[in-house]
Amino acid sequence: MKIPRRHFLKQVASVGSLALTGCASLDSFFASDKKDFGKEVLIIGAGAAGLMAAHTLKKNRIPYRLFEASSRPGGRLYTLENADGSHLDMGAEFFESHHRLVFELLKEFQIDWEERVFNPAISPLWQSTNGQVLMDVEYQKISSHFISQFIQNRIQTFGSVGIGSENVPILSPLLAEEMDSYSITQYLNAHWVQPDERVSAYWDAWSRSHYSAEANRISALRWLWDQQSDKKTKSFYKIKGGWGQLVHLLYERAAGVIPDHLIRLNWNLVAMRRAKNSFQCVFRTPQGTQVLEAENLILALPINQYQKIDGLMKIDITDQKKKAFTQIQLGESAKTYVSFNPSEVALKLSPNDLAKLPQILRDQVQISSTSVSDSKIWLGGLRSGQQAQWTLPDIENWRAGLLNTNSTNSFEYQVINWKDRPFIQGARSLWAPGQWGLYSKAFESSDFDDHLQWAGEHVPAQEKGSVHAALVSGQTAALKLIEKLSSSRSS
Ligand SMILES: Cc1cc2nc3c(=O)[nH]c(=O)nc-3n(C[C@H](O)[C@H](O)[C@H](O)COP(=O)(O)OP(=O)(O)OC[C@H]3O[C@@H](n4cnc5c(N)ncnc54)[C@H](O)[C@@H]3O)c2cc1C
Repeated sequence: MKIPRRHFLKQVASVGSLALTGCASLDSFFASDKKDFGKEVLIIGAGAAGLMAAHTLKKNRIPYRLFEASSRPGGRLYTLENADGSHLDMGAEFFESHHRLVFELLKEFQIDWEERVFNPAISPLWQSTNGQVLMDVEYQKISSHFISQFIQNRIQTFGSVGIGSENVPILSPLLAEEMDSYSITQYLNAHWVQPDERVSAYWDAWSRSHYSAEANRISALRWLWDQQSDKKTKSFYKIKGGWGQLVHLLYERAAGVIPDHLIRLNWNLVAMRRAKNSFQCVFRTPQGTQVLEAENLILALPINQYQKIDGLMKIDITDQKKKAFTQIQLGESAKTYVSFNPSEVALKLSPNDLAKLPQILRDQVQISSTSVSDSKIWLGGLRSGQQAQWTLPDIENWRAGLLNTNSTNSFEYQVINWKDRPFIQGARSLWAPGQWGLYSKAFESSDFDDHLQWAGEHVPAQEKGSVHAALVSGQTAALKLIEKLSSSRSS
């Protein structure tokens, strides 16, 4: 499916979202007809977190309504299906062996997955601009001094427990605070006199691919939190047919048999306030403004979207949360897929390498390949960080750069620039120096005696910025409300 140029330009153009401008207009909105949903739970945002919350409530027979601002569910999970039947994940792609909830859901919905083994001893991770491809283990050798210092700090800060463990103790608050004040780049420079240029570039590329932001924008404490202390062979997993399958089945299950009854798309939460024992929520909808009222609420929006909701800063939630809304941003990622005909396999990167490797970083683009059929190969290019953007000439140049010949054959492509998506405007929560210590746990606590729950990839302590974290947060929020509702019924 080739996207016409004008459609492409439309897709990459930034689209602003609606916002109310002041309190006078806010009051007039609240004066509209309101619908009282009393004990039903209102869930706002139908990404992985919101859909999982709905799924959990449904299993426990708790009534709910789910509202999504855009015209499709899934948020940062977005799978495109091509005319040849191939599937391309334009947002999240991989999950890992300790992402227990993902595996549980895939089994429940009978969805298949495939494994990609990453072996640092044979896998080039990053190709420098002079064409040199280094193995992950080679980078570790060059940076062994830095790595041993970092393992030392990790043990002092979090104990010897690896990631994925339940309770990671913070052993040294002072060291943790110091680490949080550094960016990864500053940390590297502070602990290594004249760090090897290649290693600095490697960590920057690593940071962009894992956090959607450059190394000088990420708290070193956040980075330490996520690091494996060993670099053994690791498996990544991918859903056969893409994340869209899971989104589709969660959506169908949560929506039930009457379309548009339990889930409303194109309903954008623009204002809210607390009234007696309930929340009044104002939505912009294709039919005009709607006001709904309910006692229980799960907010599952990207963290950068809350400051657009009028009235939210006035309700009685912690100052820490309010500050986080204004300070924490999302990192940036943009993804494109271009098609290759196997007869053009005069790729500068050998097809052998492409087949063997899940990913290579080259010229600040993370490449992943998807062999689709005998007649076509799709190649994915992920750019992350402040300059992350794909325009049509970039895509054409990038593709030509991977071919030995200047092939002018027509090709197909898909593209998404995440910072231009209304209601999301970025890739994943970015924890800048100083922010991890202050806000990383801010959303684990609920408000209004548990009637207001928070969900989203930024909420759980572990694995922030992943689909797994989003799913866990939605499930946890729903379970906390279920407990609340059952205890109030029995008392
Ligand atoms: C390019 C890219 C690659 C990634 N790769 C991976 C990966 O390989 N593995 C991994 O685990 N994770 C990856 N991630 C991260 C992962 O996609 C996210 O962490 C996860 O999907 C976030 O889910 P969520 O429910 O928290 O938020 P979202 O998916 O953003 O859902 C929030 C929803 O709220 C809606 N909304 C916003 N404002 C309003 C409003 N006012 N009213 C109503 N609705 C509203 C939005 O439209 C959206 O649908 C990647 C992300 C990107 C962008």
